[in-house]
Amino acid sequence: MTNTPTHNRERSCIACGAKASKADLLRIVRTAEGISFDASGKLAGRGAYVCSPECFDKARTGRLSHALKTKVSNEEAQVVAQALQAHIQRA
Ligand SMILES: [Zn+2]
Repeated sequence: MTNTPTHNRERSCIACGAKASKADLLRIVRTAEGISFDASGKLAGRGAYVCSPECFDKARTGRLSHALKTKVSNEEAQVVAQALQAHIQRA
């Protein structure tokens, strides 16, 4: 039995549904300029979470557009995928 504080804001990966705290997921954010990877997790805008670059790949064609309520172009998805990979490799 774990006693999770209610302010621990848990999110789900949009591809596989894995639950994790915000800090452990990768945030994709939609801003006025388009979609981007939000390394800080603090950018304003509609966000979606994935647990790994692999899950981003799975979600990028369908669920990501749905989660962000916008049509994500291949070009945008590619830029975000590269940013995710770079972030993972740095971590
Ligand atoms: Zn996942």
